[in-house]
Amino acid sequence: MIVVKCGGAAGVAPAGVCAGVAAAVAAGEQVVLVHGGSAEIARLAERLGVPQRELVAPNGMRSRYTDPATMEVIRLALLGQVRPALLVELGRLGVPAIGLSGLDAGLLRARRKKVLHAVVGGRTVLVRDDQSGRIAAVDGGLLRTLMLAGITPVVSPPAVAEDGAPVNVNADRVAAAVAGVLSATRLLLLTSAPGLLADAQDEGSVLAEVELAPDGPLPPSGPGMAVKLIAVKEALLAGVPEVVIADGRVEHAVERAMAGAGTRLRLAAPRRLAPLASPAVSADTP
Ligand code: ADP
Repeated sequence: MIVVKCGGAAGVAPAGVCAGVAAAVAAGEQVVLVHGGSAEIARLAERLGVPQRELVAPNGMRSRYTDPATMEVIRLALLGQVRPALLVELGRLGVPAIGLSGLDAGLLRARRKKVLHAVVGGRTVLVRDDQSGRIAAVDGGLLRTLMLAGITPVVSPPAVAEDGAPVNVNADRVAAAVAGVLSATRLLLLTSAPGLLADAQDEGSVLAEVELAPDGPLPPSGPGMAVKLIAVKEALLAGVPEVVIADGRVEHAVERAMAGAGTRLRLAAPRRLAPLASPAVSADTP
């Protein structure tokens, strides 16, 4: 059972990702496809005249400012454009697939972020109307039921908050939570970079293997990758043995990622304490 997350940036080829999903399903693998849609959200926001802003947290993490108008755009883009395109492609390839957002039967439950701290012009301000949240629970039973019936689930944000309203959630972290709850053997994060780069400006600097310490810091990386690494660690801590960050812009992206392309991330084995020195035994001990 694998979870494939298809990035939403321009250049990531949904048709190629669907072909890889179809091949895995044909080989008897159960697959959940999770998707984002940043390029489509940006395109639609521009067409509808909804300004897009980014929030920068005091720790430097960046996130989309999801005001109510942006929440509408996200729903239109993900559930009205990106997801149907994936379902059409999977259907064309003979894969029976069902699209589910977090709102369908409460598939993805989230805790709403009540107040966000953001740095604006060097000052930290409080943002109270952001409609985003953090994944709290995934209904794995629903996904398993579909897969047992031979149906491939295609999962999209938003999630449903405590108050029943939709909240935006990061799609990488959705994929991590889905992989964890389903005890997936692998999570593939297919994105617009060839893997985790040692130098974000140099596509030749892909790190083949990375071990993350369960309680250690994440490797430094730029915007986009930083949140992906948080998702990677969440998946590993939830028991997924391996996460792969690989290029979603190339042909056969899924097959390549499965065969070792990109960056394979695992949890570092916990450090063993040095064995206690054995008590000295003298030669004349009876
Ligand atoms: P997606 O839409 O696939 O979720 P994002 O666009 O949010 O992905 O993040 C991927 C981007 O992160 C890459 O295109 C790259 O520009 C950027 N990035 C920043 N730092 C790194 C890094 N160290 N390694 C790889 N990519 C990085």
